[in-house]
Amino acid sequence: MALLEDGRTAECYIERRGQRSVVGHVWKGKVGNVLAGMEAAFIDVGLPKSGFLHVDEVVAMGVPKHKRQIADLLKKGDEVLVQATKDPMGTKGCRLTMQLSLAGRYVVYVPFGDGLGVSRKLLDDERRRLRKICNALPLEGGLIVRTAAAGASADDIARDYAALRRLWSALSQRGAAVKSPTLLYSEADISLKVIRDLLNGDVEEVVVDDPEQYERILNFLKRTSPGVASKVRLYDGVRPMFEEYGAEKAVRSTLERRAPLPSGGYLVIDDTEAMTVIDVNSGGNVGRGATRLEDTITKTNLEAAVEVVRQLRLRDIGGIVIIDFIDMSDAANRRAVKAVLDVELEKDRTRTSVAEISSLGLVEMTRQNISDGPREVMTTQCDTCDAVGIVLSDDTVAIDAGRALIRAATTIDADVIDVAVSARAADLLNDDGRARVVEIEEMVGKRIQLEIDRSLGDSDVRVRSSAGSAGA
Ligand SMILES: [Zn+2]
Repeated sequence: MALLEDGRTAECYIERRGQRSVVGHVWKGKVGNVLAGMEAAFIDVGLPKSGFLHVDEVVAMGVPKHKRQIADLLKKGDEVLVQATKDPMGTKGCRLTMQLSLAGRYVVYVPFGDGLGVSRKLLDDERRRLRKICNALPLEGGLIVRTAAAGASADDIARDYAALRRLWSALSQRGAAVKSPTLLYSEADISLKVIRDLLNGDVEEVVVDDPEQYERILNFLKRTSPGVASKVRLYDGVRPMFEEYGAEKAVRSTLERRAPLPSGGYLVIDDTEAMTVIDVNSGGNVGRGATRLEDTITKTNLEAAVEVVRQLRLRDIGGIVIIDFIDMSDAANRRAVKAVLDVELEKDRTRTSVAEISSLGLVEMTRQNISDGPREVMTTQCDTCDAVGIVLSDDTVAIDAGRALIRAATTIDADVIDVAVSARAADLLNDDGRARVVEIEEMVGKRIQLEIDRSLGDSDVRVRSSAGSAGA
């Protein structure tokens, strides 16, 4: 899925068959270990890894929040209804909550909640109108009115709410009947989720390249909001749809470390275990003289502030993000860059929080992450370097292989030794007329015959001499 703004890909989401997001799924789970120290419990929901439930996510009617202790509320073996709020990522299992919320097209129903909330992104008049409509509904539990409800009629909203109530009733009945762990409700897959959550008045058109998905989307809209069904179109082009709209290129660009800026500078984006680091580079794009320099730097930083947010959204980067802007001496310029960053972040649907620019020019921020971004979905760790990003240099490989040869030659009792090495090590050892091998042959007083074994690592050798084989 790609979301285009002004013809440019702003967000992209990839879901692979068999690797669907579990965010929004509801299970009847079983409490595993309760960690009093962490105020959390592990819940078995039937996924490979247990989910994580923090005490703040436990529904406990009548117990004030600050008095809640996990050990008082849950014990091993208890059965609980839980919903995923975050996918399993890296080594961590999914994040769970007992505060279930069922999303419809216009409203989100919170069975264990209370009160009525209306999206702050809606205009005041519209919020008042929607509030009035919802207050006329037979409310039980909590209800949140979504941004997509702008312009929706009282009937639309009543229908949406009734469908969610029916869903909840079916879900809770089934929950009472089954054993844990059992999946009770699967969140809509990516195509319906996108339609449900993103198709608002601002969207001009939805183009779908799969006839089956197209039909599903139409059926969903006819049921929930027939008025917008005409915005959906089946793609009939010959070129792959993502290429036609430039989305393919944008998706691929998320694999690159560098992201260019309009005036010749660029960002370097590095993912680390703990955070994402974004470095702003002028790319040699600097004017002359001290003021010109400060001006050019500020210009690059302003462009970077825009591009950083674009990249955060496009790559769906989550967690801690550190941005290293180029040092600016003028405090007013630092404020200007920060202001642009703040304005751009308004476009981001995902929750972010930004600290001030530090004296070193660093901006610390966090961005919520719920699922893996396109990068994580499309890639796997590099085998050659174990995702470290570096491999041994030629010199190191040559020296290591030479040492291994010496070790092998001195432990084997034969005049001629057959030694297998990696292709790269063989190239390096044979370089310069076998200089390194000749040196070793003279040192050990034996003849060495090299052969290539592609299964070997660069620092490995395998001895294959007629006098019996021995590993080295
Ligand atoms: Zn690598």
